[in-house]
Amino acid sequence: MKGFLLFFALLVAGHCRQLFIGDQVLRVNVQSEEQIRLLASLEEDEFLQLDFWLHPVSSDLPVDIRVPFASLQTVKVFLESNAIPYSVMIKDVQELLDEEEAEMETNRERSSKSFNFGAYHTLDTIYSWMDTLVADHPSLVSKLQIGSSYENRPMYVLKFSTGGDNRPAIWIDSGIHSREWVSQATGVWTANKIATDYGRDASVTALLDKMDVFLLIVTNPDGYDRMWRKTRSRISGTSCRGVDPNRNWDAGFGGPGASKYPCSDSYHGPHAHSEVEVQNVVNFVKRHGNFKSFISIHAYSQLLMYPYGYSCNPVPDAPELDSVGRAAVKALSTLYGTRYQVGSICRIIYQASGGSIDWSYNLGIKYSFAFELRDTGRYGFLLPANQIIPTASETWLALKHIMEYVRDHPY
Ligand SMILES: [Zn+2]
Repeated sequence: MKGFLLFFALLVAGHCRQLFIGDQVLRVNVQSEEQIRLLASLEEDEFLQLDFWLHPVSSDLPVDIRVPFASLQTVKVFLESNAIPYSVMIKDVQELLDEEEAEMETNRERSSKSFNFGAYHTLDTIYSWMDTLVADHPSLVSKLQIGSSYENRPMYVLKFSTGGDNRPAIWIDSGIHSREWVSQATGVWTANKIATDYGRDASVTALLDKMDVFLLIVTNPDGYDRMWRKTRSRISGTSCRGVDPNRNWDAGFGGPGASKYPCSDSYHGPHAHSEVEVQNVVNFVKRHGNFKSFISIHAYSQLLMYPYGYSCNPVPDAPELDSVGRAAVKALSTLYGTRYQVGSICRIIYQASGGSIDWSYNLGIKYSFAFELRDTGRYGFLLPANQIIPTASETWLALKHIMEYVRDHPY
């Protein structure tokens, strides 16, 4: 009865959002190919409604699974009876979400006075903060709309430029997978950092005197929800919504590491660039024509990766990208000792086709990188807000290293 009343109250309040009461995130430490196969079979079981945060791909890598309350017993028994070791990473997903929500609420009241970079924000708040940034730095920052999302939300790019005509430029996007919230939050912090450092920090000043920086903070605005990964487009013939926008690029499209099933979280979509959000970036980057670096920011796992994802063959520039990447994560670690791994997507995680940095690299943008920010699995996508500023600050050191390198190595 109590449950019913709560349900009713939520309906009346107009909250149709999904709840995750009692859901747990399990970390599974696979030890053999056989166990990977067993986990992959769980992934295909639609009845269990499992949400894989990290997929079963190799026995070196952990698998993180959000298990709905109703499936917990079944999954635990399955793991135990197959002698697959696991631990409980998050013991009640909704509890963490509620804490975060409460913090966002407190912050909403405060943020009318000053913006809190150490908090997660709604899409509206991020968008209106962009206008503040532009208003505060009118000669450096401008806001461009590069198109609209499937559900017709504007997609805004912040342009940092001190003039010149179509200068060589650096592209940074965050939040293409919407639930990776520390990514968008890092995008916001980074935009502010660039704007405030220009004229104060010699390196940023030298960079912006020569190059432009374009930053797309919310690449997937429709999906900007705590647990959603994909776009929100409707696919004919299924009730499942959305496409994985980082399997949708025209780079090995439809190959290994992407799903052809619309209900999968890594569904590649009906064709390359089917997602308008991807198409908007493609059009913008191509039309600009002078990008020298393309950086996509994801979470989580603490990795700095370069192409390819769709193939394990090394790209021609692999040695250079690898050394730039290593120096970047070395700089990153100087702040808090956070450790990152560096390598090609295919070698460091798994073969994954249709990714953005493979597309940009094949377009001729040599310095193409993808970050997977904090953490390595304590909180996963639900990284607490008190880690936003530390994460963004350390990531900035890596970004700055890459940008300086690109500035000093014209091609
Ligand atoms: Zn991602």
